[in-house]
Amino acid sequence: MPTKNNTTMRCNFCRKSMTGRADKKFCDDGCRNAFHNMKSGESYSATRKINRQLRGNWLILKDLIEVGEEEAVMEDLERYGFDPHYVTSLEVREDGTTVYGIYDFEYTRDQDGVVRFRRDQRYPPRGYR
Ligand SMILES: [Zn+2]
Repeated sequence: MPTKNNTTMRCNFCRKSMTGRADKKFCDDGCRNAFHNMKSGESYSATRKINRQLRGNWLILKDLIEVGEEEAVMEDLERYGFDPHYVTSLEVREDGTTVYGIYDFEYTRDQDGVVRFRRDQRYPPRGYR
């Protein structure tokens, strides 16, 4: 097994140089734990951020559907805070229409940016008129 130049081995967390086996990643258990805590913290805040945006998208559609709206211009939705990059499902139907899902709502958009939305018929209505 080739030996690694010790001066290039650095702890993945504190970046201090260290000696030892070539596959060593951390100088001690403290650095190993701190590194993994940091990593899980990152993924936690990533899921929080995405969930918050999905919920925001859902609330915008909910407000519109509750007052009887069935369509809107994407530009206007984005002004309300809607972000079309966040959907919970995506389905291309046989006629080529892409249907975007946001939890129990679904919408399509045409080339002019007109968004048509409704409650996904697969979900039983609950709490909606
Ligand atoms: Zn360290």
